[in-house]
Amino acid sequence: MESQLMFLDCPAYLDKQNLVRCGLPAEVRCRFIVRSTSGPLECAMIRCPAGHSFNGPIEFLSLESAARAAHGHGATGPTSQRTPA
Ligand SMILES: [Zn+2]
Repeated sequence: MESQLMFLDCPAYLDKQNLVRCGLPAEVRCRFIVRSTSGPLECAMIRCPAGHSFNGPIEFLSLESAARAAHGHGATGPTSQRTPA
């Protein structure tokens, strides 16, 4: 396992109407798996520069960034772009 810095948009609400979100890049401080009745859940502890911190399932923390991650930013895996020397 290599540790790499990862950020999520901070999901904290800034107003009582729950309309405005913080959105600052929250650093993922640690990731862990929690077992649930519907299978293992990937969880994380995150903290944003404004001091908001959350601890819970990544799918609830990441909001739309989960969808974004599905499009780009893939992990570097075996691709056919590089030719072996
Ligand atoms: Zn925040």
